[in-house]
Amino acid sequence: MTRIAVCPGSFDPITNGHLDIIQRGTEIFDKVYVVVLSNSSKTPLFSTEERMELIREATNHLPNVEVDSFNGLLVDYARKVEANVILRGLRAVSDFEYEMRITSMNKVLNDDVETLFMMTKSQYSFLSSSIVKEVAKYNGDITGFVPPVVEQALQAKREDVK
Ligand code: ADP
Repeated sequence: MTRIAVCPGSFDPITNGHLDIIQRGTEIFDKVYVVVLSNSSKTPLFSTEERMELIREATNHLPNVEVDSFNGLLVDYARKVEANVILRGLRAVSDFEYEMRITSMNKVLNDDVETLFMMTKSQYSFLSSSIVKEVAKYNGDITGFVPPVVEQALQAKREDVK
């Protein structure tokens, strides 16, 4: 059986925390689809295309990763690519309640797909796309928290806003 996982998120933008989960996922699964869900209620800083391109560049050393986007229910996407697993990262207890709610709903919507959680590495446990955007906005140093290509993209956005 081919083991296929879907790693969903907003990835606005991808951080080293996301990348760590994706990378570890590629060691367990034959294929990992990293999918930008564009139906979130949040207003993104980067367009779906930009977010996909940043993920592509950050994961180009991982041959079994495919980057995609989807507007709709995640379980429908999983069905479309014949994935058996939804892979999510867990940072703190505060993530738990939200994750439990969507996992339970996804299980009702599609009983064939399992959700698997991976604990973040401790050095990324406080890291989120929003905190990175906040620090970058005020010229703070984000080296080590995001891939270099994201650092450059955030700098370019800041210059756009000026
Ligand atoms: P969402 O909009 O679904 O919260 P995110 O792009 O913020 O999307 O996150 C996508 C996935 O990556 C989620 O499972 C989230 O818990 C996980 N994640 C986010 N930041 C980190 C991190 N620093 N370490 C590990 N997992 C993370």
